[in-house]
Amino acid sequence: MLTKGPRGTKDVLPEEVRIWVHLENEFRKVCANFGYEEIRTPTFEHTELFQRGVGETTDIVEKEMYTFIDKGGRSITLKPEGTAPVVRAYLEHNLYSKPQPVKLFYITPGFRYERPQAGRLREFHQFGIEVFGADSPAVDAEVISLAMFFLEELGLKNLELTLNSIGCPTCRQQYRDKIQLFFKNKIEELCETCKSRLDRNPMRILDCKNKNCKSALQGAPKMLDNLCEECKEHFELVQERLKDIGYSFEINPNIVRGLDYYTKTVFEIISNELGAQNTICGGGRYDGLIEECGGPSTPGIGFGMGIERLILTLESQGIDIQLPNPFDVFIATIGADAEREAFKILYRLRKSGISADMDYLGRSIKSQMKYADKYNAKYTLILGDDELKQGLITVKNMTTGSQGKKGLDELIEYIKGNLEKQKS
Ligand code: ATP
Ligand code: MG
Repeated sequence: MLTKGPRGTKDVLPEEVRIWVHLENEFRKVCANFGYEEIRTPTFEHTELFQRGVGETTDIVEKEMYTFIDKGGRSITLKPEGTAPVVRAYLEHNLYSKPQPVKLFYITPGFRYERPQAGRLREFHQFGIEVFGADSPAVDAEVISLAMFFLEELGLKNLELTLNSIGCPTCRQQYRDKIQLFFKNKIEELCETCKSRLDRNPMRILDCKNKNCKSALQGAPKMLDNLCEECKEHFELVQERLKDIGYSFEINPNIVRGLDYYTKTVFEIISNELGAQNTICGGGRYDGLIEECGGPSTPGIGFGMGIERLILTLESQGIDIQLPNPFDVFIATIGADAEREAFKILYRLRKSGISADMDYLGRSIKSQMKYADKYNAKYTLILGDDELKQGLITVKNMTTGSQGKKGLDELIEYIKGNLEKQKS
């Protein structure tokens, strides 16, 4: 127990953290380009927020939440997704009285009690965005294109963008009745979960992964054929806007998304390299959610993108992310006097903005050089008796192998200049 983390959790070790930081920086950059600002919400919320905001009949609320009673007797839940907390913050801080739309992004952990497997954890992480206060189909296209643009910027290929519209409460109610009737005649073909969905949430049967349920779907009425005029026009305009900026997509009438509050556009971005857990990003419009949470009627739309799945996809596509070294300069020393002097030089280098390190283990000069090489140091400084006497330092360029002696002031300028040149 003491040496093993809880099931479904994952340590991110330094080498991988560098990838995470890179992705976070890129996501922040893309969001800034699109005019989105960052929001951070707490790790836990009142359980009621998710019951209301995700929906009582969803898998998340029915079986996956980490819920506990705190010492004050309140029911608390670790956030299973990012949207409901952002909606809560939007309402709590009257963000609806600011100029609309309010465009937000976040990077958050999420907690779901699921069966862990590749691409499915109990603590996972998401990039997400939400837009409040704009019902224009252009906003749907903006949200979708932000996700696609970010993934393409990272170098991902063969992404499948799939869209659907699940209508509004008016047209969906009629459709819901139709689909209920359709599956009532096929109830024996459905899995146990879908049998119980039939009454409470029949649309979820459409995206059940079970083989029998999939084949029971044949000939089922499609939401797209049952949209009201407004929803139909909205969906057509979303597609038009996406085409205008060069995105192609497939329509998949079986995407319904897990959360109850979605309306109109829903979408998923799929990478077929991922196997069963192949959805990197899922999102949609939720024009009823804010009202459901006690706010004024306000349209909303957003997406959540699984960071762990994103990293798996990058790996499986062999995309090599150029990562910074832990340090650019290493100081190798010979003898106690040199070590003492090196510690001062190390501090000066760091204060000048140069990432640097030195040996603390009293290793031989040979193994110090090896260590510097292993961590891809760009320069190794060598400090021994000769250098100390001369007041100079030997500088070895680890890329070219050339070396020479320099005074300390000169050395700092020299390294700084060269590192900057390499970066630009
Ligand atoms: P799935 O179909 O895989 O169960 P979902 O519909 O439950 O996904 P959303 O609630 O839409 O997922 O979350 C958005 C994204 O977050 C998913 O597309 C996925 O990339 C990621 N995600 C969701 N649940 C997990 C999890 N348990 N572990 C890792 N990533 C997850
Ligand atoms: Mg799920």
